[in-house]
Amino acid sequence: MTPHVIEPDPQAGAAVKAADRAHVFHSWSAQGLIDPLAVAGAEGSYFWDYDGKRYLDFTSGLVYTNIGYQHPKVVAAIQEQAGKLTTFAPAFAIDVRSEAARLIAERTPGDLDKIFFTNGGAEAVENAVRMARLHTGRTKVLSAYRSYHGATSTAINLTGDPRRWASDNGSAGVVRFWAPFLYRSPFYATTEAEESARALQHLEDTIAFEGPATIAAIILETVPGTAGIMTPPPGYLAGVREICDKYGIVFVLDEVMAGFGRTGKWFAAEHFDVVPDLMTFAKGVNSGYVPLGGVAINAEIAATFDKRPYPGGLTYSGHPLACAAAVATIQVMEDEKVVENAAHIGETVLGPGLRELAERHPSVGEVRGMGVFWALDLVKNRETREPLVPYNAAGEANAPMAAFGAAAKANGLWPFVNMNRTHAVPACNVSEAEAKEGLAALDAALAVADEHT
Ligand code: PMP
Repeated sequence: MTPHVIEPDPQAGAAVKAADRAHVFHSWSAQGLIDPLAVAGAEGSYFWDYDGKRYLDFTSGLVYTNIGYQHPKVVAAIQEQAGKLTTFAPAFAIDVRSEAARLIAERTPGDLDKIFFTNGGAEAVENAVRMARLHTGRTKVLSAYRSYHGATSTAINLTGDPRRWASDNGSAGVVRFWAPFLYRSPFYATTEAEESARALQHLEDTIAFEGPATIAAIILETVPGTAGIMTPPPGYLAGVREICDKYGIVFVLDEVMAGFGRTGKWFAAEHFDVVPDLMTFAKGVNSGYVPLGGVAINAEIAATFDKRPYPGGLTYSGHPLACAAAVATIQVMEDEKVVENAAHIGETVLGPGLRELAERHPSVGEVRGMGVFWALDLVKNRETREPLVPYNAAGEANAPMAAFGAAAKANGLWPFVNMNRTHAVPACNVSEAEAKEGLAALDAALAVADEHT
C-alpha cells in the first residue's frame, strides 16, 4: 500500500490529547500516570500521529485489525449498510445478519453451525458459559492460569492472568488448572510429549477432585494469546476433547484472538484437529471495524434451546453495521487470500526472522508462535530463564521493558508489550516488506533489552 501523505499538525494533536485527558477514562490504567498517543489516522498496517510520525502496527490494535486499517471494501460496505438499514433489533431476520452467520458457520470447524452474536469477546464468553451451564445442568467451569477471556464479571473470573488483579470478584464455580507451557513448565517437564501427558493427567485429577458431575465446561484459548502465545503441545487439545467426552463436560474453545486467520488457518482449532462444542470469536471477524463477537454452537447444544427459550440476549446482538463489516471482511479475506498470507508470512518471514534475532540477542529466551501470532519471551538469563522483568512489574522494576518499548517506537514500530514479552502480531495481510521492516526495528529495540541481561 502506498504510504499515506501525512500533514503534521502538532497543535491539533495537543488539543485532542487535552480533551482526552479531561474526559476519557482509560481501561487498565492509572488515569494520572498515562500519556496516550494522539492518533491522527491509520491505513493498512500503519498509523500516524499529529507530528507526522508513522508507526508500523505490530499489535493490530488489540490483535484485531486482521485486514489492517481502513480497508476500502469494508469501509464501503459499512457505508452502504448505513444507507440501507443502520440498525434493527435482534429478534428479526435481517439479510446481512443471516449472511454473516452463514459465512461464519461455513468456516467454523465441525458442526458449529449456529451463531449467537454479541458485541465482543467477553460477552461471547459469558454466553458460552451460560449455554454450557444450562445444557449440562451443572455449574462449575474449569479455566486455565495464563489465560485471558475478557473483563466482564464471569469472563474476568475465568481469566487466569491477571488473576492477581482487583477485578477478580471471585465468581462462584470457577476452578483454575494449569495448561501446558513447556518453556515455563508447571509440570517440570522437559519434552512436549511429557508436558502434554502431565497436563492431561493434572486436568483429569482436578476433575476427579472437583467431581465430574459438577463441571459444566472446560474453557481454553486454543492458542493462549495475551498470556504469551503458548502453542499447545501435540495431543493436548485432542486429549482435553476426550476428557470432556468421557465426563459429559462441554468443551469451549476461545478463539477471540486466535480466530479469523491469525494463526494461518481460519481457526486455530484446525491446526490441532479438534472440534469444540462451543467456540467464541470476536476481533478478526470483522477486523474490529464495528464491535462484533459471538458464540458458534454445535447441533447438540443448539437443540437444548429448540423448545426451551435461551435466557440471554443483547440489544445490539448481530448489529447490521457490524454484520455488514463481517460479510465484507470475510469476502476480502477470501478474495485477497489473507489467511494464506498469514501462514506464508509466518513460515517464510516472521518465524525464521524472529529465530534469527533470538540467535543474536541474549535477551530473547524463546520464540514461539505461528502465522502472524508470535511471542518473544525476554529473559535476564537464558540459562535460568529468569524473566527480564518480574511479573506485573511496575515503575523502576519495569524499566527494561519500558526501554525496549521506547526503542521500538523510536524505530517506527508500535510493539505489543506484556510483562516480559513482546508479541509480533501484525495484520494478517501484512506484506513481506512490512514484516521485514518490523523485524529490523525489533532488532534495534532488542539491542536495548540486551543491556539488561
Ligand atoms: N477472549 C480472548 C482470548 C481475548 O483475547 C479477549 C480480548 N483480548 C477476550 C476474550 C475479550 O474480548 P473483548 O475485549 O472483546 O471483550
